[in-house]
Amino acid sequence: MPTPHGPTVHLQRARVTARDRLADLDAQIAALRRARSGESDDDEHDPDGAPLSGEWSRLEGLRADVERELSDIDAAFARVDDGTYGICLDCGRAIPVGRLEVRPTADRCVACASAQR
Ligand SMILES: [Zn+2]
Repeated sequence: MPTPHGPTVHLQRARVTARDRLADLDAQIAALRRARSGESDDDEHDPDGAPLSGEWSRLEGLRADVERELSDIDAAFARVDDGTYGICLDCGRAIPVGRLEVRPTADRCVACASAQR
């Protein structure tokens, strides 16, 4: 009999990883903000301004990805709580454990997920 703890181990690991990445990105964004405000005090026509904002939007984009991932993970934990985790939203069949190991936030089986695209 499969234990309900198996898949949530991967889900918990995914959440720890995503939170680490979020903290790392926040640190990089904070460092960038410090660098930018330090330079703009001296010279408003800073030639480094453009590359800095390119880096800024790259980091903000990565941060948005991680936040989306974290909300997917939270939604998956909510499904664990109400007992629907690991069950395909579309066809109601069990999602294979192998798929949940690779994609702990998967809410559809392979067939339904690929039919969606
Ligand atoms: Zn399905």
